[in-house]
Amino acid sequence: MKGFEYLQEELDQMKEEGTFRTLVSIESEQGSKVVINGKEVIQLSSNNYLGLTTHPRLKQAALQAVNEYGAGTGSVRTIAGTFSMHDELEKKLAKFKHTEAALVFQSGFTTNQGVLSSILTNQDVVISDALNHASIIDGIRLTKAARKVYKHVDMNDLEKALQETQQYRKRIIVTDGVFSMDGNIAPLPQIVELAEKYDALVMVDDAHASGVLGENGRGTVNHFNLDGRVHIQVGTLSKAVGVLGGYIASTQTLIDYLIHKGRPFLFSTSHPPAVTAACIEAVDVLLEEPELIEKLWDNTEFFKEGLQKLGFQTGTSETPITPIFVGGESLAHQFSDKLLEYGVFAQGIAFPTVERGKARVRTIVTAQHSRDELEKALEIFEKAGKELGILR
Ligand SMILES: *Cc1c(COP(=O)(O)O)cnc(C)c1O
Repeated sequence: MKGFEYLQEELDQMKEEGTFRTLVSIESEQGSKVVINGKEVIQLSSNNYLGLTTHPRLKQAALQAVNEYGAGTGSVRTIAGTFSMHDELEKKLAKFKHTEAALVFQSGFTTNQGVLSSILTNQDVVISDALNHASIIDGIRLTKAARKVYKHVDMNDLEKALQETQQYRKRIIVTDGVFSMDGNIAPLPQIVELAEKYDALVMVDDAHASGVLGENGRGTVNHFNLDGRVHIQVGTLSKAVGVLGGYIASTQTLIDYLIHKGRPFLFSTSHPPAVTAACIEAVDVLLEEPELIEKLWDNTEFFKEGLQKLGFQTGTSETPITPIFVGGESLAHQFSDKLLEYGVFAQGIAFPTVERGKARVRTIVTAQHSRDELEKALEIFEKAGKELGILR
């Protein structure tokens, strides 16, 4: 069919630059090892921090929900698609996050979009970290509010932005809790102090911190003892929780407002029973199996140190997300391809997901990885790194 030649041109350009990618299909369950192209490899690219995607309790909860309630809900939440289990999950999440209320959206992406697009007008301003997630950026694009971007985790620049925006009705500072490409933690205590000094709201996206940081994985707010001082906490149910979805944990006022105005919430069908039941079970697992988070951090320390000892550049990471910087866009993909050939799945990440010149292979260890698997992975990184001249 004719019509897309202009898009094909751009794709051909990407092929020339070595940045064109095809999707990698996994032929097994998501675990510390996965099957790709018929071969078992060590998985270091998933967000399955605690191995909950295949946890027996979650699988059992999902199966039981399908048997009792069926495969789908048949409606959006606000019309006929709120089941009692949706309420139960939200109550559990609010309690978990120590907030008055919580509201679940279809994904973390639509949560950010939904909240930012609905609570601000042209009388307001969003103040956003330069490296915030795409879903925050898209949420900001959908508001009529003014916007200011401060340099990544630069508190002087944030204060400057706050001083320059005093004329607005509401100011909201938005930050990732853990930055998804670098693995560093936002300086939340300083952000909250500045917000209190200048009377601004704070919104934290804890997609990569939920289930990872804080008591039982409550996130960055709890990690920094800031319970009650951050206005909006965003979480995902798709990463450490192992299933699918996003949520807001906040005050009853904000939740009531979003039920009326949050467009992805209003106009998209609610989660199927299997998803909701598995998420409920996952919160119980977080509360009852804290050893999973301990294992995650043990593995993180072991693997990060191993990479650094080999001489890889791992940047500012403080979490299970460890990037390995290689520089060139196409080198990141070559490195990733070589790792896969030798038995490790670790995706190359390049522009436009990260800045040009900051291309990397990103790794995420999980609680499921055995020491043997991580040692084997380090050997493979060393071999591939030397072959490509990333290591000397
Ligand atoms: C992954 C991610 C999201 C999106 O979450 P999904 O549930 O996968 O849609 C939002 N924010 C951040 C910081 C993320 O890393």
